[in-house]
Amino acid sequence: MRRFSIRWREAIILGSLMLLAGCQSSSSVTPHRDYVLEKSRQAQGADQRIRFLVIHYTAEDFHTALNTLTDEHVSAHYLIPAQPPIVNGQPVAWQLVPESMRAWHAGESGWRGRTNINDTSIGIELENKGFTQRLLERQFYPYPALQVALVTSLSRDIVRRYQIQPQDVVAHSDIAPQRKEDPGPLFPWQQLAEKGVGAWPQAWRVKAFLHGRDPQQSVPMAGLLDKLARYGYPVTQDMTPRQQRRVVAAFQMHFRQRDYRGNPDAESEAIADALLQQYPSAAN
Ligand SMILES: [Zn+2]
Repeated sequence: MRRFSIRWREAIILGSLMLLAGCQSSSSVTPHRDYVLEKSRQAQGADQRIRFLVIHYTAEDFHTALNTLTDEHVSAHYLIPAQPPIVNGQPVAWQLVPESMRAWHAGESGWRGRTNINDTSIGIELENKGFTQRLLERQFYPYPALQVALVTSLSRDIVRRYQIQPQDVVAHSDIAPQRKEDPGPLFPWQQLAEKGVGAWPQAWRVKAFLHGRDPQQSVPMAGLLDKLARYGYPVTQDMTPRQQRRVVAAFQMHFRQRDYRGNPDAESEAIADALLQQYPSAAN
């Protein structure tokens, strides 16, 4: 009888608390140590803080990269080994920073009019040696199939959770073309796009925009840069010709990987036109 009455009293107290908070159900009231939060009304004027997914290579072996990415200077949300170990039949990725926190992977950067991309992105580092300089040529290293499969599934989850637009899945070199080459021209962007991660131009559109021109035919740099800027690349009016070529090269490393010398040519322009048509620039 006594136990029953205590429960009854508790029910009355809870009921009056709910009345006090003006809520309809107890689940919208969250008690904290010194206060209570009422969450029954949620605003519509809000969106995801995370807008971009940035892909990198480490240019270091896994253990060196793990040390670098866990010291106090730089970090990334995820690190994927070249040969991911298998646990319970599944490949393993390392999470180094919770997604709710900012990781320090992008540095000075810009995309689609935004700067400091660390604030608004998730960063994934892939173990990859980067490149070896051979005379005038850089020889990049390929990404093993299991590593690609793992970055694809992880990215697909991230893109879905934050509703990241295809054109906002980017290379470090896209958002910092003056400083960075990673993840390089051997990263399989097309393969990822076919699995629903990131953008890729449709071949028939590129062909249509080429209008029968020789793909290598030169086009005015200013016109091409204008299109790349509209797509998202950080382009400024005061760039030197060398800096302009770096932006074009970054674009080519992503979307025209067999030739990324930075020449402004008809094929690059047609690819940019196709991308702009496929992914109309939504408010971001
Ligand atoms: Zn990077």
